[in-house]
Amino acid sequence: MKRIGFMFLMIIFLISCNQETVTNKENDNQISSVENNVNEKNENALNHEDNTQEEIIENEMNEDPEEQVVTPEETIEEVIDFTGIYQEHHVNEAGQIMILMYHDLKEKPGTYATTIELFKKDLERLYEEGYRTISMSDLIHNDIHVPLGTTPVVLTFDDATLSNFYYDEAGEISKDSVVGILDEFYRNHEDFGRNAIFYVYGQNPFREKDLLQEKLSYLIENGYEIGNHSWDHEKLNTLDETGLLKAIGKEHGFIKEAANYEMQHVSLPYGIKPSESLFSFVFDGTYEGVTYHNVSAVNVGWNPVKSPIHANFNPQSLNRITCGEDQFELNYWLDYFKDHPEKRYYSDGDAETNVIPSVEMENISDAFIDKITIYDKEEQ
Ligand SMILES: [Zn+2]
Repeated sequence: MKRIGFMFLMIIFLISCNQETVTNKENDNQISSVENNVNEKNENALNHEDNTQEEIIENEMNEDPEEQVVTPEETIEEVIDFTGIYQEHHVNEAGQIMILMYHDLKEKPGTYATTIELFKKDLERLYEEGYRTISMSDLIHNDIHVPLGTTPVVLTFDDATLSNFYYDEAGEISKDSVVGILDEFYRNHEDFGRNAIFYVYGQNPFREKDLLQEKLSYLIENGYEIGNHSWDHEKLNTLDETGLLKAIGKEHGFIKEAANYEMQHVSLPYGIKPSESLFSFVFDGTYEGVTYHNVSAVNVGWNPVKSPIHANFNPQSLNRITCGEDQFELNYWLDYFKDHPEKRYYSDGDAETNVIPSVEMENISDAFIDKITIYDKEEQ
């Protein structure tokens, strides 16, 4: 406890040194990592010791005077110029977020396929332009852990074809499979995160039945998510209540049985919704004694979604963006956000806070209205 307190004070001290000399990008990065450290330290202290920031400082003040650095509470406010940091990093946690939709990896790109090279190129461009992966669950629950000044992105893969996940002759995850590519990218760019959701259907996801359990375990243990893409890849608008319960419930039960894993997210086959009166069965139902509860459903296209704190965020109808160069595809939107940074979600680096420029206040959902930190974009 004593040590944490002391380190916290040292970090505050370091920030105060840094703060005065921020003139270029390099210092910028230092500040964000220092700020993140501060947040981390605070979180650790809060989690493990159940102490508030103020208590940490108070405790420290009561300890050995030789170890004390005099930092009264109010100095924290003075030293960290949060408004300046938010302005500089365009922080806007009410901005838009892309959910990307992939299917197969093939030799030639098509509507439901891309190539290994193009997929790697997408990851590179996303990384270079400040996008960091989060899981579908984190999006839905507004639990967005990405560094200051970066933008969350969700990667989704439908149909669980073999190209998504297979092993090479040496028994290693193939470096040409989606999972192999994501794993390698993560090894080289740890801050990109390793998050993706694989929407599976039927009883042969990833197309190697003998290896199904092994593959599902690997995904779950390594932070990937598995989502429900129906039992028979049915068009859900052709089904009645019984049919819907089977389409969603049977796949849910199958994966629960195979991997002891409760899927919570649905990808509607072909992006087709059931009729309005039956739509709730996508999210809740019981089939053959197994009850399912889904918290989100993704569509097929074509635009980014609202932030989870935005009044128009709808987890039951999340649009996705296809990869490619055409209008409303990934590269189109990456260009768009370059031209319109004010539309883009930029994180403050702290998942606990919701920081927005004051102009976004009118867009915030009632559920978050009293949990918002506002700042002015321009110096007054
Ligand atoms: Zn599909």
